[in-house]
Amino acid sequence: MENKKIEEGSIKCPECGGKCKPTRIDVEGFELQGWRCSKCKYELISPDDVEKAYLLLKAREREKVKISKRGHSYMISIPRAIAKAIGIEKLTTAEIFLKDRKTITVKV
Ligand SMILES: [Zn+2]
Repeated sequence: MENKKIEEGSIKCPECGGKCKPTRIDVEGFELQGWRCSKCKYELISPDDVEKAYLLLKAREREKVKISKRGHSYMISIPRAIAKAIGIEKLTTAEIFLKDRKTITVKV
């Protein structure tokens, strides 16, 4: 893949040979820079944002975590990949609720 900055314009589509124009690609609420082919809609993520995309993919993998008891509360630790993907160091609170009998949702 050509290592071009997004502002440097279009690149050739590796799928159909058409023209890929610079665009923002929304991946589950994460805005990534890249290109989209105007012919076949093929999307390429900018090399600058590949790490972000990788973090997002890692964070979406299911992971087993332990539930521990502390006083009257129960603790579940947040896996590192998820913490990194959402930038947890900037957060101080989160919302937690029972989505259904088997799913706890944590909204940040
Ligand atoms: Zn194409």
